[in-house]
Amino acid sequence: MYDWLIVGAGFAGSVLAERIARERDQRVLIVDRRPHIAGNAYDRYDDAGVLMHQYGPHIFHTNSDAIVDYLSRFTEWRPYEHRVLARIDDKLVPIPINRTTLNALYDLDLKTDEEADAFLRSRAEPVEEIRTSEDVVVSKVGRELYEKFFRGYTRKQWGLDPSELDKSVTARVPTRTNTDDRYFTDTHQIMPKHGYTRMFERMLAHPNIKIMLNADFREVRETTKFRRLIYTGPIDEYFDFRFGKLPYRSLRFEHKSLAQETFQPVATVNYPMTEAYTRITEYKHLTGQTSPNTTITYEYPSATGDPYYPVPRPENQELYRRYQALANAEENVHFVGRLATYRYYNMDQVVGQALAEFRRIQENVPVWTAP
Ligand code: FAD
Ligand code: UDP
Repeated sequence: MYDWLIVGAGFAGSVLAERIARERDQRVLIVDRRPHIAGNAYDRYDDAGVLMHQYGPHIFHTNSDAIVDYLSRFTEWRPYEHRVLARIDDKLVPIPINRTTLNALYDLDLKTDEEADAFLRSRAEPVEEIRTSEDVVVSKVGRELYEKFFRGYTRKQWGLDPSELDKSVTARVPTRTNTDDRYFTDTHQIMPKHGYTRMFERMLAHPNIKIMLNADFREVRETTKFRRLIYTGPIDEYFDFRFGKLPYRSLRFEHKSLAQETFQPVATVNYPMTEAYTRITEYKHLTGQTSPNTTITYEYPSATGDPYYPVPRPENQELYRRYQALANAEENVHFVGRLATYRYYNMDQVVGQALAEFRRIQENVPVWTAP
């Protein structure tokens, strides 16, 4: 008999397993249907000895000291600031769009924030109510830059026009008038020094935690006794798709190992205007590894495959709310994480959500003693 069964060994499940095992001294079985822990953050050394991310590039960034303090129990860090170039026409220019981008793209010599701001204002289209992912961009940079940087990429990535997606999607990528070409501006921009998987191994290394891999919840629930459940898989699947499928966008990853030291000048190059893939990432920039070989990943968006991205649109949120009502009525079950709460969350947000859920558990769920 386990005190807790946790479905999914990604950030949501692993943080809760660690907290419950250490702080409540209770027995936890954590299961994952994949053959490894760490969920989508899973990284590994490939045959050429290069540390790569199996499910696409994962860059850690957060403004929360508390989340960094918590994860620092399980890893050391290396500083890393992510920079991305976009292939636009025949040029490689920085994204987020900033003053350097404008100067490079239009052969300009904008010298100050004010000049860049005036340039963007002269192109921006007024939008009365900013609702969609198109509105957000067009109202800031105008239609031409929107079409070059955002329309094609978004159509590929989501299979939808930006006008059909909530504003929060493209609002993830800011526009700047200065020359800051970093992808993120968070106070903490760091990568686990020995990789994500090693961090998860240390998180889960506790005598109260048993790990079962290649194991689906549907099988385990038949054979295992447990008192409470934490579920971090897709919420619609938990309820046997009772109200229909919640849309999740998927990706096909093509990993390539190359016998050369480097492939591209920065970690990620985006292809908003051409190609079937959205971006190519070269991991050595993220990890700082030195090696005569390098590994890159192409991301091909797909409607089918593992669920990776909840699709932020009002009608999907509506459908999620119906599942959420079922989840709220479920006794002794906690739904946590990107798939179970249908939120386009970054890793730090999932850690924050899991730590908050743990605080609620501490307040509301007594530590029972064995009969
Ligand atoms: P997951 O990591 O998805 O873990 C859920 C686990 O549950 C999975 O391992 C799954 O196999 C398992 N599971 C599901 N159903 C069952 C079942 N029935 N039985 C058993 N096991 C089950 N975030 C960032 O902060 N920075 C980034 O740069 C970044 N890049 C990303 C790039 C890509 C391509 C993707 C897809 C995501 C990226 N993210 C990034 C987001 C990040 O991956 C998530 O925030 C985080 O992994 C979510 O953790 P989770 O535990 O909620 O879910
Ligand atoms: N986006 C875009 N062009 C780009 C980069 C991003 O249109 O060059 C849009 C696209 O809709 C994407 C969203 O902005 O899905 C968020 O980008 P981000 O890089 O945060 O995506 P993630 O890393 O989460 O896949």
